[in-house]
Formats: sequence, C-alpha cells, structure tokens
Amino acid sequence: MASGSSKSRTPDARGPEAEFLPEVAELLAYGRALLAEWKSELSFGVRYNRRMRTRAGAAWLRERRIDLNPRLLARHPEQVHETFAHELAHLVVFVRFGRDVRPHGCEWQQLMLDAGFEPSRCHRMDVTGLGRKKRKYWFLYLCRHCPGWWIQRHRVASRCPDCARRPGWVYRADRSPAGHRRLVRIARAHAAAS
Ligand SMILES: [Zn+2]
Ligand SMILES: [Zn+2]
Repeated sequence: MASGSSKSRTPDARGPEAEFLPEVAELLAYGRALLAEWKSELSFGVRYNRRMRTRAGAAWLRERRIDLNPRLLARHPEQVHETFAHELAHLVVFVRFGRDVRPHGCEWQQLMLDAGFEPSRCHRMDVTGLGRKKRKYWFLYLCRHCPGWWIQRHRVASRCPDCARRPGWVYRADRSPAGHRRLVRIARAHAAAS
C-alpha cells in the first residue's frame, strides 16, 4: 500500500498571500458546514485562481466550482468567508432553481441570511492595480472588393464607404500617432495593389 509519500501535492495557489488566506481544506470544511445549514447535499470544488483580477470570487455553476481571487482577498482577509459563502449560495440556488430565479434574488438572500451574512450583492474592495490595463487601438478595415479602406476607433464591422460591402480584413495598432501611421502604410499598399 502506498503510504503518506504518495499524497498528492497540489501547488498552493495562494502564493505570497498564503499567510492571509485560509487553506482550501479549511474552505471545504466551512462549505460543508454551510451546506448542512442550508440542507443541501451539493458537492463542490473551490480553488484560488491567481488569474482573477478585480472580482473577489466567481461561481462556475455547471462545474459546481468556486474560484477565489487570492490577490484581492488577501487585502481583505475578513471577507474571505463571506465571499466564499456568497459564491457557494449561487451554486445552491442554481442546483435548486436553475436559471429561473435572479442570481441575487430572494432565494440567494435567504441562504446568506441563514449563513449569518447581510445579503448585500457586493462589497467595495480595494482593487487598485489589479485591473486589466485598458489598451486603446486603431482599427484599419480593408475592403475585399475594392481599394476602399478606413480607420476607426472600435472593432465593429461596418460596411465599406466606397462599395457598401462587408470589409475583408482588419488590422489593429496601438492608438498612437505611430500606430496610425503604420495602418495608413498598410492601407496605401492595399489600395495600390487592388
Ligand atoms: Zn453574486
Ligand atoms: Zn469596398
């Protein structure tokens, strides 16, 4: 028989924030206590997901899994259990009612109350520096049917101003003068070749 040496070693996704965050095993135990309180026999998973940015937690309804954001929650350790309960309640509501009820409706609120929390939708947490940098681009559209081209700020399929047909190709460049110049060069080559 394999002994303790074969114990699976999953990497600790808490990373450098580990000291502020409960272990997954502790959350699983807490979750089982909540489910007993809620009279649910759901089986679920929970993990810390270092790729999360500004959301504290997420519930994957079909996978029955909860993701928690270690970087954000380490800033607000007092909110870990509530965030976890919030997401677990989403799973329970989904299993009981499917998508027929509102995600933060009465059913969910009752579970939160039963767990001892105010059923507020979200808490303000300090997400400074965790957000995705919003990059801005120019988009060049080249017409597939004629030499027409144009540059715009958003990626929305519009029609060629020259022939009114759908454009063929899109190029993207940073929203800077250099990016714009690059796109104009591509556009001129396209127009000359058409
Ligand atoms: Zn929610
Ligand atoms: Zn055209």
